[in-house]
Amino acid sequence: MLKYRIRLIILLAIVVLVLGIAANGLFMPGHEESGLTGSDFVRETIVNNTTEPLGSVEVIKNIGNPDGKKIAYVVGVHPLENDTHRTFLKMIPTLDTFNNCYDVYIINLSEDFSRYGQLLPDDQPGRVDGQNMAYKYVYPEIVKGGYAMACDVHAHGGAYGDHDTFVFCPVSGSLGESLAQNVSKSTQNVSYYDPEFTTSGPFLTVPLNENGVPAFYFEENSFFSQDVKDAHMLELIHAIDNLKL
Ligand SMILES: [Zn+2]
Repeated sequence: MLKYRIRLIILLAIVVLVLGIAANGLFMPGHEESGLTGSDFVRETIVNNTTEPLGSVEVIKNIGNPDGKKIAYVVGVHPLENDTHRTFLKMIPTLDTFNNCYDVYIINLSEDFSRYGQLLPDDQPGRVDGQNMAYKYVYPEIVKGGYAMACDVHAHGGAYGDHDTFVFCPVSGSLGESLAQNVSKSTQNVSYYDPEFTTSGPFLTVPLNENGVPAFYFEENSFFSQDVKDAHMLELIHAIDNLKL
């Protein structure tokens, strides 16, 4: 009888352990980082590279009002900046009314890219590969996709002095620049700031502006608390949704 009880206890312990591992697996960051998994959204793979750079480009389509203007967001151009990319993907499905219709392009690089705070600012693995993926696979899709505008979401580690949260268009005098300025005017915490140089501009926002799609960046300080980053991201999303396009 005692042996039977011991066996039963061991069996129960194994069941609890297996269930625990399974539940934990479901809530790993990779599974929860994007709430954009519901059947309401169309998710397509644009490219899935099996050679260098290893990675994929996906697009999640038709978020918001199908009768509104089409707007593209891009996340993942600089993989190190993934905290704002995850913040964006977390926040956008929490909003239930939109004026416009959004497609979100996601660049996923398979290499180990770490994140701000864990490596030196100059050591940014994946940065060049992400830019090349943007130019090769995302830029042509946006140009031919009939979008009224595009926004490329980035983060930084405090490289811009007092300028923490800002929008910016690298083509001066463009419609992209005036839309970014309007976003800044209609928000409390998103300024317009023209940094001295941009590395990713020539791979996405510059050619988009030069080929009929107004585009600008969003930059956020990676070291802000998650609450602050969430609030700023919502300001950006609302401001873009209320632009006159
Ligand atoms: Zn960046």
